Amino acid sequence: MYLILLGAPGSGKGTQAKVLAQRFRWLHLSTGDMLREAVATGTELGKKAKGFMDSGALVPDELMIGMLVERIGRPDAAAGFVLDGFPRTLGQAKALDEALAAASKSIDLALNIVVPDQELIRRLSGRWICSSCGAIYHEIYNRPKITGRCDLCQGELYQRDDDKPETVRNRLEQQRPPKEMMDHYRASGLLMDIDGLQDVAKVTADLIEAIDAKRGVAR
Ligand code: AMP
Repeated sequence: MYLILLGAPGSGKGTQAKVLAQRFRWLHLSTGDMLREAVATGTELGKKAKGFMDSGALVPDELMIGMLVERIGRPDAAAGFVLDGFPRTLGQAKALDEALAAASKSIDLALNIVVPDQELIRRLSGRWICSSCGAIYHEIYNRPKITGRCDLCQGELYQRDDDKPETVRNRLEQQRPPKEMMDHYRASGLLMDIDGLQDVAKVTADLIEAIDAKRGVAR
């Protein structure tokens, strides 16, 4: 199955995408992770993307589309994937459709995790990430046992530049899924809203229910 998770930054997309990919044995493709990796290793793409990412802006479509289309064309993506962070524009959504159609494939479902702005700002401003294993913590909702240390691997926790409060509002303004992209998925009957204000396990349960319904699995 080819699944898209949509939602604003802080909606829980990344957390849920990991859980779903593990459960269904699909490839988890986070364009944010791919870009951070490109920045860390200093590739051409990374150099071009860094300034946009640090200011909370979107990386231009011409950079994003090439990267993603190349990745979903590799053999390990054939059995199924969860897209986390892509598409973010109508242009990206259309390019994705075209790339899949060229391989006689298509998106099966686009699940949109809905969270009000006030809550998104609260969540994003307090997020800390483990520099070794990527585990996600939060100052209010999910504190590590020892401040600044990962519970799982004792790695050092850091705050992403774009999670710093001054950037958060800009990121939200620029990165809310655009209406024309949502309309594109709604018009094709693929879009389903999931209430992202519930606790993490309930959001997962709702996502799985929607996926199973689409796959025709009896519950
Ligand atoms: P994320 O981890 O998904 O929040 O992504 C981190 C940053 O990478 C975003 O703030 C954007 O600057 C950039 N980015 C990730 N995915 C995309 C995309 N599909 N289109 C444009 N920029 C993206």
